[in-house]
Amino acid sequence: MSFETWKDVWVFVECFKDQPKSVGLELLGQGRKLAEGLKQDLCAVVIGKDTKEAVKAAGEYGADKIYVVEGEEYEDYSADAYGNVFLKLCELYHPNTILVGATVNGRDLGSKIAVSLRTGLTADCTALSVDEETGNVVWERPAFGGNLYAQILCSETRPQMGTCRPGAFKKPEKNPDNEPVVIRREIRTPDEEIRTKVIDFIKACDDNDIRLDEAEIIVSGGRGMKSAENFVLLKELADVLNGTVGCSRAAVDAGWMPQTKQVGQTGATVSPKIYFACGISGAVQHVAGMSESGTIIAINKDETAPIFEVADYCIVGDLFEVVPALVKELKAR
Ligand code: FAD
Repeated sequence: MSFETWKDVWVFVECFKDQPKSVGLELLGQGRKLAEGLKQDLCAVVIGKDTKEAVKAAGEYGADKIYVVEGEEYEDYSADAYGNVFLKLCELYHPNTILVGATVNGRDLGSKIAVSLRTGLTADCTALSVDEETGNVVWERPAFGGNLYAQILCSETRPQMGTCRPGAFKKPEKNPDNEPVVIRREIRTPDEEIRTKVIDFIKACDDNDIRLDEAEIIVSGGRGMKSAENFVLLKELADVLNGTVGCSRAAVDAGWMPQTKQVGQTGATVSPKIYFACGISGAVQHVAGMSESGTIIAINKDETAPIFEVADYCIVGDLFEVVPALVKELKAR
């Protein structure tokens, strides 16, 4: 099947309050790799009320072209308004490949586009490559509860689409000298066509807390913490290091921590500079969400715990002794 008329790799640079989210910039790095494999251009798609910052960032993170659509109705995400823009752009430019962040909005938008264009979408990808012979992107994602990785192809239709988790990929190097072609299109979505409206935003965590996907240091606890109260220990360590606290699903299921703090396959995918795993065994579903961290420090009293297989520093011991000792030492510095 020939897909010659379908050109370029598109990355949706999602914004919140006119600021680009990290995931879109991370995907520009992956998009570049695919664009090179497919010998096509890398394009960013920016939609919003004021897109200045996102357009600047998309250029700096390597886009060759940036499609920009602005309007009052695009201040907040809605599937109807953003879907309308995206589908009109697809009609005009026939993209070969579309990458979207697997955020709440990105998942919504990606599936709307895929269904409308009757094409395939692979959700939650963790690795991407190109089969140069066929021009298909190889979309890789965990399957069967994270026990194996599936490679999925969209060989019959275009565009080929995928969503990728925030934090699954590192941002590419910034290049402030890159000069992308910026293409502005006037696409309006009438108010009566927008069926959902954002009324308010309510923060999931307190103002002083650093979000998991933005933290450079994460101190996570699991079932080994034994109670909600004991997480204070991890908070102390996180505070000394200017990091934030995360957890395993066991800690969420026990009601010790909110789901927004869960790391792993059904939680957040993170890649901080340092990741502490305290009283976490290292189940594949947890490791799937943190294995890309810079340095992994595991504290576990069981020397055979699987977390030690991915850890850079393995501390075999009782976390109730090790963590306070670390806090004391760090405070003394
Ligand atoms: P456990 O496996 O019970 O490990 C507790 C560890 O604490 C043990 O290794 C023990 O040696 C250690 N320990 C106990 N006391 C101490 C002490 N005093 N000092 C030091 N160490 C101590 N899990 C996730 O985390 N994230 C996910 O997103 C996720 N998604 C899932 C999706 C699916 C479809 C499924 C089936 C499961 C998922 N899970 C997920 C659950 C996962 O399989 C594990 O059950 C979970 O990660 C276990 O959490 P844990 O390591 O905290 O607990």
